Amino acid sequence: MKTLDTNRKYYFQKEKTMFKGIDLSSDTVTQPSLPMRKAMFDAVVGDEQKNEDPTTSELQEKASKLFGFDHAIFLPSATMANEIAIASLCNPGDALIAAENSHLFVAESGGPAVHAKVICRPIPTATGLFTQNQLENYHYWRRNIHSPVARLISVENTTNFGGGIPWPKDELNKIVRYAKEMNINLHMDGSRIFNASIQTELSVKEICDGFNMVTVCLSKGLGCPMGALLVFNKNDYDKVVHLKHLMGGAMRQSGIVAAAGIYALENNILRLKDDHENALFFVNNLSKFSSHIKVINSPPVTNIVLFDWISEKFSAEKFDEYCLEKKLRFSRIEKNRFRAVTHLDITKDDVIAADKIIHDILA
Ligand SMILES: *Cc1c(COP(=O)(O)O)cnc(C)c1O
Repeated sequence: MKTLDTNRKYYFQKEKTMFKGIDLSSDTVTQPSLPMRKAMFDAVVGDEQKNEDPTTSELQEKASKLFGFDHAIFLPSATMANEIAIASLCNPGDALIAAENSHLFVAESGGPAVHAKVICRPIPTATGLFTQNQLENYHYWRRNIHSPVARLISVENTTNFGGGIPWPKDELNKIVRYAKEMNINLHMDGSRIFNASIQTELSVKEICDGFNMVTVCLSKGLGCPMGALLVFNKNDYDKVVHLKHLMGGAMRQSGIVAAAGIYALENNILRLKDDHENALFFVNNLSKFSSHIKVINSPPVTNIVLFDWISEKFSAEKFDEYCLEKKLRFSRIEKNRFRAVTHLDITKDDVIAADKIIHDILA
């Protein structure tokens, strides 16, 4: 089986120098803070693969309690957590139902097809949210021998490429009820679940209620250099730890990074509301450029802003180039669409400076 396209030219191979400036391309670009590094420096470590790393165990216990699940495991990335969840909750040939613009489908290099051999059923949605009614369109699958079994529904909370939208609790409840009724497993890609929790004022425990597994990313708004958690219950334990090992996710002195996770859970959650305020502030500033820039998710509710370049002045590609020249970076996620993400290394002054740069480019 040939799964790697070795002729592919990867973007990152061209980008060898680190970007320095106002980086709104993602909330993954944060640098670990001094107190976080201090916690890492002081971490007591052991061999995680033998379950002998006390700091990793502490993080896992803390997380399982916080989320209200039997277990939490520490993993190198949220991508790996997602892939383990899918592969442990589905059989080959089963259908995985998720939003068409979900990270699972658009940003994991085809992982669901490779690791879990599932058939992907993307639900059309611009926001990343979908409804019970849309799920019911898949209902007929379960009724005859020709159809793949609808085995797993995955919801992304908040929706990354849908504009950082948290799922409303009543919509989540409907999905959970429907999945139980249809005997379908539930996974939440909660890479930004703390942004959802802060915005909706629901605890992460309440948000995850009824789900089989939840992915939590530590290297987004929480500011860790790497790492993620997968939370789940005891019936799934054997499958999950087997897949973790199989995928190379078993680690050694991982407490060095787990310490950053503990620090983040204790210190970096409540401050996410600053990121939400900065995103809103950025969008309010953008309104004066309305003949050039159209904000898609106005007002933004968490830390992600999507905007389209609609200007006649020059192309989106040029706008991107001019911004980079002036040390301002967004991520360009479609031909004319940009994503701006606020995070703990972006201050209100940075947002003001970003606004000034756009102003200068347009002048
Ligand atoms: C970033 C992200 C991931 C992957 O996280 P990594 O830790 O970078 O692998 C998965 N899902 C969503 C929604 C994300 O935003």
